[in-house]
Amino acid sequence: MNAPLQTGPVFRPAARLASIEVSEILRITAEASARKRAGRPVIVLGAGEPDFDTPEPVKTAAARAMREGRTKYTILDGAPELKAAVREKFRRDNGLDYALDEITCGTGAKQVLYNAFMASLDPGDEVVIPAPFWTSYADIVAICGGVPIIVPCAETDGFRLTPQALERAIGPRTRWLLLNSPSNPTGSAYTADDLVGLAEVLDRHPHVWLMSDDMYEHILYDGRRFATPASAAPQLRLRTLTVNGVSKAYAMTGWRIGYGAGPKALIQAMATVQSQSTSCPSSISQAAALEALVGDQASISDRRVAFQRRRDLVVEALNAMPGLSCRRPEGAFYTFANCAGLLGRTTPDGTVLEDDRAFCRHLLESADVAVVPGSCFGLAGFFRISYATSEAELTEACGRIRTACAALA
Ligand code: PMP
Repeated sequence: MNAPLQTGPVFRPAARLASIEVSEILRITAEASARKRAGRPVIVLGAGEPDFDTPEPVKTAAARAMREGRTKYTILDGAPELKAAVREKFRRDNGLDYALDEITCGTGAKQVLYNAFMASLDPGDEVVIPAPFWTSYADIVAICGGVPIIVPCAETDGFRLTPQALERAIGPRTRWLLLNSPSNPTGSAYTADDLVGLAEVLDRHPHVWLMSDDMYEHILYDGRRFATPASAAPQLRLRTLTVNGVSKAYAMTGWRIGYGAGPKALIQAMATVQSQSTSCPSSISQAAALEALVGDQASISDRRVAFQRRRDLVVEALNAMPGLSCRRPEGAFYTFANCAGLLGRTTPDGTVLEDDRAFCRHLLESADVAVVPGSCFGLAGFFRISYATSEAELTEACGRIRTACAALA
């Protein structure tokens, strides 16, 4: 018997989703996985996820929480114990003192960012986002009714926003400047002096608030000191939301705990948003995050050393390839390499590499290496490598990239 024909009303998505697409990074990762399943030896350098495991004491704390019956709703935006651990973290690492009602915890830093924009943006309000940027920023702002104002930052400025460019981007509708240091996708980090320079601009525009995404705080190399705006420019503290989380620092992406600190009125409004979406984050994950924040911090420095070695391996390999160049990032686990020198060249099967997307496709198809085009992050002519994988795999991947580039005519 034939199956009945599927007919019915056509689903019409809300207008607010018109400009939003499923992340291209996820799409590339899915395609790479499909090729892998089909038997290809694909190396995926796409995902923004540490390859290390969650530290054992963190898992133990989660198991203990389960056994002790801490399996119920907690206070909406984080149990008091977790908020106290976050307060201690800000004191210890950033010299920042927050009261418990100036702290919020959510299901990943992503939800914290989402809550903040949902709680603050009216239709047409603007958010200044320096590019290249983590793709979700612009999409979250758009879903919340805001307008992302993308400000390109030059490679020669270390992909950092300059005070002059910030001054030009600010208008009467600007609600937020969003900074991310160290950055996904470039690995660039702002120094305290850089932040003071940007703060001088914000001093002239008191209606602009600052959101600082510090997710990669602990992945910073060559002995650099991490700087965050609320502490480098304390006059901004009363209009700054500092966002962070346990995903990258403690290899806890799947546990979904992020947190933020800022003025009480903002934090309260964010809790209202969260109260009508997810309520509290998982109680088990909260117990795990608490242990991560207050327990032994040794894993952070061990992993930083490993990441720095991988960074050096990848940067040196890329810079030795004719047509490619790559600055040495200060932090995070990404390189953002310039491939403009290879665009316009032809692959062995006769395809002309028109842009960075075509270049990345060539690497996937001819070298079985998955990387992400710079266009996904708002800057064409580049590609991002996530080096959160073993040195052996990185060495193999770089060798294949070299061969694929050498094959271009
Ligand atoms: N900010 C940046 C810059 C990120 O790269 C990510 C994860 N890719 C996040 C925030 C979100 O992290 P999570 O939701 O896992 O805490």
